[in-house]
Amino acid sequence: GKPSILVTGGAGYIGSHTVLALKQAGYEVVILDNLVYGHQDLVEKVLQVELVIGDTGDRALLDDLFKTRDIAAVMHFSAYAYVGESVTDPAKYYRNNVVGTLTLLEAMLAASVKKFVFSSTCATYGVPEVIPIPENHPQNPINPYGATKLMVERILSDFDVAYGFKSVRFRYFNAAGAHPNGLLGEDHNPETHLIPLVLLTALGKRESISIFGTDYPTPDGTCIRDYIHVSDLADAHVLGLEYLLKDGESEVFNLGNGNGFSVKEVIAAAEEVTGLSIPVQECDRRAGDPPSLIGSGEKARKILGWQPQYPSIKDIVTHAWQWHQQRHK
Ligand code: UDP
Repeated sequence: GKPSILVTGGAGYIGSHTVLALKQAGYEVVILDNLVYGHQDLVEKVLQVELVIGDTGDRALLDDLFKTRDIAAVMHFSAYAYVGESVTDPAKYYRNNVVGTLTLLEAMLAASVKKFVFSSTCATYGVPEVIPIPENHPQNPINPYGATKLMVERILSDFDVAYGFKSVRFRYFNAAGAHPNGLLGEDHNPETHLIPLVLLTALGKRESISIFGTDYPTPDGTCIRDYIHVSDLADAHVLGLEYLLKDGESEVFNLGNGNGFSVKEVIAAAEEVTGLSIPVQECDRRAGDPPSLIGSGEKARKILGWQPQYPSIKDIVTHAWQWHQQRHK
């Protein structure tokens, strides 16, 4: 059979979609998740794979995990990812995202597991100089969250030189949507992301959606983002894993559609999909938001053969809407 893959953060949003894609591709999966933000019931009811509850910073647990299972590669999703919180509590972010990841990497080295798929982010680029952002764009993150991801990217490059440690680093643009099967979706607590907040407003769970800034240098004054369907992200991860298992060299890939939508355009798409009118409130800018972030997935298409299935914002919002409606039935 196919080898076992350790997936950290497999009980979270992007991790859970990838676990399902891995299972469908025939892999044995073990999830490591501390369940701070992950969902145990999801693992038990939908994913139905082994769940080890614990931290990536727990070296003894990791050593035991690698000793008792035959793990060929690690996919590392677990991280704290609230940009605002990373500014007010950077210690929490450096401890978990950097120190925790370093401990995981050291345990992998000790177990001679040297293939790693890493969740990085377009937040490592900071404010882009060119759009769409190419992978070789300078990385100058403007918040601690982005800095933690960039530090791990650097560790991975150095580990390759010194130890022959091979990694695929995916820099995600705005992960969005939900599995078309309706069983998996976005469930953050607290929720800070645009699309779920817009849909929760449509459902009447919130009074209005705040538009953070209407004076950006964009056509309608609101921020532009490249929304990428979570199932397309999951597919990219399976391809990245297979690339490494076939002894591919370390690589970095942007995962985006190369197509941007403004906050107002996302709200309009949600009104079209839901058939409801969604009350908005125009607010001040949110700290740390670049005006426009768009990244082409050209390199991932070329080298990994990645073919996004749901590049349309309507499909993304439709799948997210199915998920939210079903959860609030
Ligand atoms: N945004 C907004 N209102 C909200 C949440 C987000 O206007 O309630 C904007 C935010 O300023 C950004 C875009 O929507 O320009 C996407 O934000 P999100 O938090 O979903 O993702 P991020 O780009 O921060 O990763």
